[in-house]
Amino acid sequence: MKIAAHGSRKKTRTFLICLLVLIATCCIFIVINAASMRSRQIRVPAITQSAINQTAALDHLANAIQIPTVSHSNRVKNNDLAFRNFQTLLDSSYPAVTAQLDRYTGDDFGDTQNSSLLYHWSADQSEDTPAILLMAHYDVVPIEQSSLEKWKHAPFSGVIKDEYLWGRGTLDNKGAAIALMEACERLVNAGFEPHRDIYLSFGHDEEVGGKYGNQQIAEWMRSNGIRLSMALDEGGGIYRGVPGLKQPAALIGIAEKGFLNVTMKVQLNDAGHASIPPGETAIGILASAITKLQQRPFPENLDGGINRMLDYLGPEMSFFNRIAIGNRQLFRSVIENQFSNTAAGNAALRTTLVPTMIEAGFTENALPSTAAVNLHLRIQPGESVESSLQFLESAIEDNRITLKIDQKLDGTPRDQVAFREPSRISSDTSESFQALHLTIKQVYPDVAVAPFFVVASTDSAHYDDPALTKNVYRFTPWNLDQAGLTLIHGVNEKIATAEFIQMIRFYEQLIINLAGNQSN
Ligand SMILES: [Zn+2]
Repeated sequence: MKIAAHGSRKKTRTFLICLLVLIATCCIFIVINAASMRSRQIRVPAITQSAINQTAALDHLANAIQIPTVSHSNRVKNNDLAFRNFQTLLDSSYPAVTAQLDRYTGDDFGDTQNSSLLYHWSADQSEDTPAILLMAHYDVVPIEQSSLEKWKHAPFSGVIKDEYLWGRGTLDNKGAAIALMEACERLVNAGFEPHRDIYLSFGHDEEVGGKYGNQQIAEWMRSNGIRLSMALDEGGGIYRGVPGLKQPAALIGIAEKGFLNVTMKVQLNDAGHASIPPGETAIGILASAITKLQQRPFPENLDGGINRMLDYLGPEMSFFNRIAIGNRQLFRSVIENQFSNTAAGNAALRTTLVPTMIEAGFTENALPSTAAVNLHLRIQPGESVESSLQFLESAIEDNRITLKIDQKLDGTPRDQVAFREPSRISSDTSESFQALHLTIKQVYPDVAVAPFFVVASTDSAHYDDPALTKNVYRFTPWNLDQAGLTLIHGVNEKIATAEFIQMIRFYEQLIINLAGNQSN
């Protein structure tokens, strides 16, 4: 017996030693993974801050904000005079650009009501280098009347106060349009000659889908055989307060989500009587389908934009964060939970779904035979409209419910585009991405650059065609925290005057990096 007990103790000890060795090896492995994450940040000295006539530049932006270029999905409602005034303002504010660059609008694209603008800056030589397209839009979203009194300064005042320029469009997106024009005006005046063609596009209907603006311009480019190596539009920015990251993150959108509006409808043959209600009603069936969908979200997908973003931001984070990010296979669910906990993180992680309109019933004491809801989806790159519809069907599992993308809630045809497929995923190693990364570091030396997927839709989608554009990027160098993000489309939209001036330097440096010769 004694010998047997000794043998089993020995075995236990051997087992424990093996277990400890295994745990220690795992720990060493985890620590090595965390420690060996190599920084992907370009190290480059900041450029010397060029002198800019700030008063004139801010005046130009203020003038632009004062023109109420609100776009409407029914274009008959557009204030065409405001669009024309904006164009005249660009002509008079930027005489060098007006003289040097070709400008196309309206009839040039076969539609007199197309108020979007396309400028073409020809290359100094006939090199076969694909052109670049720099985009911004000059239309803005309307002001909600009930919110007017909450504005500290009237939304179309363009007031400069407390180191901010106030008004609708300062961030989204006239600030970028004016900064781009300022940069080009400075370069033309300095005698800069680009070695590749540069196009500037300023959309007039981005906020309502760009159908009569950039969609037509993209078509015009295709029919004129223009090839772009890059289109750069809004969508990403510089964000402060990224969890685990001390410095601000400059996020470049390499893809954007698609969208889909679906009418989910219940149609019963016999609604029943309200005084003897049946066990199930049209409203009840619809409500339980909505509940099912909300309880079963689309699957999370770290392999979407988040992994690429973490590849760039992870090495810049604290060691504790690097432990998780450097061992993503092991800590996958921890990371996914972290993202799921915030609305913005959740939107980055998966296709999202939200009910936006609901319709049922016609009087207080009768049962309706139909009930319908509009489901609004934002689809992750890598998924599709079709795969999203399949997911909805399998989640609902109720043959009394129909899903229609071509009909509104009342069964009439939709007058708006019902869906847009998610974009392609552009390269984060291309020459254009490198130029963007480099420029950001030259102008904003304290940020960490990373690619990511944009959850909103932009006009760049019209150029997301391999026959036209190799890569599409989305980045405007605004510098915002969580509170700042709510200003976009919101009350008291404003831009810090210093940020706007820095934006001019960004576009100027970007053009030099992408299209400058040695001699420039
Ligand atoms: Zn915008």
